[in-house]
Amino acid sequence: MKRRIGVLALQGAFREHRIALESLGAEVVEVRKSSELDQIDGLIIPGGESTTMGKLMQVDGLGDKIKDLAGKDLPIFGTCAGMIMMSKKISNSQQYSLELMDVTAERNAFGRQIASFETDLNVPALGSEPVRAVFIRAPYIKDIAPNVGILAEYEGKVVFARQGNMIASAFHPELTPDRRVHQYFLDIVEEYAGK
Ligand code: GLN
Repeated sequence: MKRRIGVLALQGAFREHRIALESLGAEVVEVRKSSELDQIDGLIIPGGESTTMGKLMQVDGLGDKIKDLAGKDLPIFGTCAGMIMMSKKISNSQQYSLELMDVTAERNAFGRQIASFETDLNVPALGSEPVRAVFIRAPYIKDIAPNVGILAEYEGKVVFARQGNMIASAFHPELTPDRRVHQYFLDIVEEYAGK
């Protein structure tokens, strides 16, 4: 069955997620207002600027509705700023977040010198072939609760994690041709659609 995936399109890198999802056979709806969250089987929160995204999410009750749907087991995938938005806490910041995953995010965590970089990341859940990961002013997960699974680490820092119906990556899988990360999310969508 064709699944409908919402991609939050308030700002940031949402178009590339659309292309990735469509190439895997999903139907995509760009979400800009809360009514567009109805009848989706999963949601992607893209990279961008988390403080701006947080402000926009408070307009039209979008953030509250996402929180409500997350509690009803809607699969959600956050990349980069999306990871920050999903974190329960953000170090040294009072900015808005959805507080969905039991982790603390550290923003812009790889420093100025290497603000953006690419690396081959070992992600055992996706097989033995490493994932080419693009990091752009990326966060990492600083504190992680025992109920959150680690999917990948880079230099000892958690950069990809899963908590039940939710996953978050510090890198941008939509910017590389490898579709395994999006497929992994669609597999979660399939798993929860059957519940
Ligand atoms: N540095 C951005 C933030 O803190 C995230 C960057 C990104 O999403 N590529 O919101």
